[in-house]
Amino acid sequence: MTNVLLADSIKIRRSSFDSTEYVFSSQLYNYKWISLNHFFKTFGNDFSINYDNWTLNAKLKNHKITFYGGSAYYKIDDNLYHLPMPIERVGNGLYIPLFEFIRVLKTHFYKTIKYNKTIDAIILTPGKYSLGLISINELSNGTMINIEADTLFNKQHCKIWDNDGWLYFTIYGANIDVNKTKEKYSYGHINEVDVRQANESVQLSFKFRNKFSSYDFHINEKTNSITINVRKEKTKDEVVKKRSKWLIDTIVLDAGHGGKDPGTVLGRLHEKDIALDIVLQLGKMLENNLGVKVVYTRKTDKFIPLWKRPQIANANNGKLFVSVHVNGVDNSPGTYGTETYLLAPRGTKKAIEIAAKENSVIQLEKNQDRYKNMLSPQQYILATMAQREFMKESLEFAQLVESNYSNRLTSKSRGLRQAGFIVLIGASMPSILTEVGFITNKKERNNLAKYSYRKKIATSLYDAILKFKTEQDKKINEIR
Ligand SMILES: [Zn+2]
Repeated sequence: MTNVLLADSIKIRRSSFDSTEYVFSSQLYNYKWISLNHFFKTFGNDFSINYDNWTLNAKLKNHKITFYGGSAYYKIDDNLYHLPMPIERVGNGLYIPLFEFIRVLKTHFYKTIKYNKTIDAIILTPGKYSLGLISINELSNGTMINIEADTLFNKQHCKIWDNDGWLYFTIYGANIDVNKTKEKYSYGHINEVDVRQANESVQLSFKFRNKFSSYDFHINEKTNSITINVRKEKTKDEVVKKRSKWLIDTIVLDAGHGGKDPGTVLGRLHEKDIALDIVLQLGKMLENNLGVKVVYTRKTDKFIPLWKRPQIANANNGKLFVSVHVNGVDNSPGTYGTETYLLAPRGTKKAIEIAAKENSVIQLEKNQDRYKNMLSPQQYILATMAQREFMKESLEFAQLVESNYSNRLTSKSRGLRQAGFIVLIGASMPSILTEVGFITNKKERNNLAKYSYRKKIATSLYDAILKFKTEQDKKINEIR
């Protein structure tokens, strides 16, 4: 019989704090049915099934149990019992209605079996304790304490406070197996854990080695578990390190292309020249008005391989990387506007295609091997690790760049995009690539050819950098 409408699974745990097992189930005649095969394979022993007569044998809690496909009889040890309906054969398995099976389990094996609504699971032998294991995880910025629970506690029934290096947590209406949690805890910041059962509450105390600055807790409604987060006080070194991370004191300007690689060309106009002029103008403004160090990947008409550009940025301890390019598109003279790119988080096919044009310069490079597999999904993830840490800042900065273009240029913003530009891979700082206009659009081409228009672009970028630096400076003041 193959009246299967929906293959599904039922969550079952041996006890409250055991891991969840998923047992096959099916929807038949509007009931949920559970796979006897799968259940006994998971929770029983000596499982076997004879397909000549559809007889299933297994052991559960040292009792022999037998079910017969197509029959309403089942046997436990040598006693015969009767079900209100026959066992169904579905595929290679024997299925029984879930509510019937729970009755069988309750009668013969698990007297206290219960269904836990929050975790949507059947617990075969629920314990008498509502709290389970306490686990302590050290994080770089503090400590996370996780307490397993088999019921959903109300936040109002929990209380947290601290005194003299101790953190106290009380859960009213809870109980815990004190002996089971009495292992020796010595995890980094915590050197003592005390667990006590009072009349109607559980009292947890944690002694911290180092000062903590703040703490809170939350209750996970999916798992019932309670999580306490304790943030440690930052050491002087960490504050200095963190501050220097946000301090925009060195800006790396990357004029796209150069030397034997002219970039997009139309008539006498070369992308490499436009990009270099904008970068030089921008650099001068930054040095004169912002007092930051400016590093150029090139200051002249020189060929620099793509891989070398983020390396120059890293070697100079850059805090912001701006790569300037000019766009071009075949057969679409009407297309114009600015685009600013972030490195795509994944090497998706689309992101790689978009980047193909700017990446194609590697064909002019002598040692192309170093790019081998760089854009394969797995290599890409590794290669872009350095950049991912700065994704948020790169995005903030890219937004500033595009909005400042809108303020100053007669062009239009085509918005933020993501692509797998090699020049952005590996830079350990917020990084963007900006396409300042289309050389293939007549009006924009005429503009880009003018010094005054390129100055407007440089000024827009300057404004964006100024705003970004101001924001980052604010963050530094927030670091205690
Ligand atoms: Zn380019």
